[in-house]
Amino acid sequence: MARVVQKYGGTSVGSVKKIENIANRVARVVEDGNEVVVVVSAMGKSTDQLVQLANDITKNPSKREMDMLLTTGEQVTIALLTMALQKRGVDALSYTGGQAGILTEANHGNARIREIDSARLNEQLEAGKVLVVAGFQGIMEDGSITTLGRGGSDTTAVALAAATKADRCEIYTDVTGVFTTDPRYVEKARKLQAISYDEMLEMANLGAGVLHPRAVEFAKNYDVPLMVASSMVEETGTMIEEEVTVEKNLVVRGIAFENDVTKITVAGLPNRIDSLPKLFSILSSHGVNVDIIIQNQYDANHVNISFSITQCSLKDTVACLEQAKEELEFETLHHEEELAKVSIVGSGMISNPGVAATMFEALAKNDIFIKMVSTSEIKVSAVVSEDDMVMAVEVLHDAFKLDEVLAEAPEKQLV
Ligand code: ASP
Ligand code: MG
Repeated sequence: MARVVQKYGGTSVGSVKKIENIANRVARVVEDGNEVVVVVSAMGKSTDQLVQLANDITKNPSKREMDMLLTTGEQVTIALLTMALQKRGVDALSYTGGQAGILTEANHGNARIREIDSARLNEQLEAGKVLVVAGFQGIMEDGSITTLGRGGSDTTAVALAAATKADRCEIYTDVTGVFTTDPRYVEKARKLQAISYDEMLEMANLGAGVLHPRAVEFAKNYDVPLMVASSMVEETGTMIEEEVTVEKNLVVRGIAFENDVTKITVAGLPNRIDSLPKLFSILSSHGVNVDIIIQNQYDANHVNISFSITQCSLKDTVACLEQAKEELEFETLHHEEELAKVSIVGSGMISNPGVAATMFEALAKNDIFIKMVSTSEIKVSAVVSEDDMVMAVEVLHDAFKLDEVLAEAPEKQLV
């Protein structure tokens, strides 16, 4: 017998028929003698539809009411799935995030979980109940409902696995696992058998949408064995765990990419010790989130600063910098739109020199111009033109031999 937390995403519970199908799967796991907590998302695209309803009323809804609205999506699913389980003779009970003891910080729209009072859940699990918990939500100390940020149901599942000391957390979704890169864009993408927490965290933060970054962070911090697999087909998924041996000695495990990147250049800033802190505190006070930053000195008295932002913050960024032109004493402001960030990720690069060289050579050989670069211990990101994005990913996928991952057919798995 094991204690298992299973999470089913929006597409997996997108219709009554799909909910009945998930109920069959859960009923089988219960029949096999396991203790089960199920975490679900809102049905299909219903969270987006709720956002749209709010926008039809006001462009500026209060964050508290937004949370009140959005959390109803998951409540529909928990009630329906619980009914479907009860119809099958499974002793199931539904819980909102607050009822499940999920206490968050006081931050509507993107709250972090502070603690989980799991006494009630543990009691019910021990009494043989199957618990169906609404993902993506919690409550703050004063009882107000909060949400954990879009895609946050993954985090609910991992947090509940940690709090109930579950043997594992299984995330069921519309893909069959974590891939070397997005298979919707790159035909040669391969499913990984395993990936480390750190690699997955980089991939998730770099825009690989398969898991919510905070869920990975949680799994790493609390040592929760995590699995991503399909809710539709019975196929072995991907394990996310602490130590992963590098398949076939590959130094790179995956390639993440995202478009809508814009590069801003502030040219001719005075070469003074306070220029950089002044510039970035102005940006931060306007809520501009900066990614890659490059500084270079172009004469004794001046530096140029380039940084990347997402396309949607371009207007605010330009406006606040133009406004601060006198204070910052820069000469000119430029921006370049329609860029993309392509990143290679792998723990193997810590101990293998030449990874960046291979990346840059492969891109250059294919006439892909690199506009910015940033690195961490286990990733190298290059900003390229959006038109080159998919080609860059394909070229790097070949250069790092990622199509050699798991060439053999996946074994079947019983779920
Ligand atoms: N329903 C929420 C969303 O669409 C949370 C989730 O699905 O994880 O973002
Ligand atoms: Mg998701």
